[in-house]
Amino acid sequence: MSFWKEKSLSQMDAHEWESLCDGCGKCCLNKLIDDETEELYYTNAACKLLDHQGAHCSQYQDRFSFVPLCTKVTADNVAELTWLPDSCAYRRLYAGRDLPSWHPLITGSKEAMHQAGMSTQNKVKCETNIKYIEDHIVLWPMRDQD
Ligand code: SF4
Repeated sequence: MSFWKEKSLSQMDAHEWESLCDGCGKCCLNKLIDDETEELYYTNAACKLLDHQGAHCSQYQDRFSFVPLCTKVTADNVAELTWLPDSCAYRRLYAGRDLPSWHPLITGSKEAMHQAGMSTQNKVKCETNIKYIEDHIVLWPMRDQD
């Protein structure tokens, strides 16, 4: 049995918790919320620290030094982080779902995730080069796939 099937999120150790992250990079995209409807919109404007080819944070261990408002996902706050994509491993397990077939813990690498189009790889622009963020709303980060 795989640890994510045997343990609850709060029972996982630090290594197990970190390995759950698929490294899709979608949480590193800027998002907009409609003032009136409170609807969430993803953009392709990525955090300045996102590695566009690898789809991972280039300063993960030190990220709070560069981006103090970055969020650390934990078992205690995952319920509130409704802006995480449906494909996010933490949100999937929190919702009682399993990991998808393309998840790196299943396949052994990030390649299947990239091939399935479930990551940010080569699909984003750096937030520092964006003029009107409203022009960068995209739908693909909302897509989930088992
Ligand atoms: S969206 Fe979830 S699984 Fe994807 S990189 Fe962010 S924390 Fe990890």
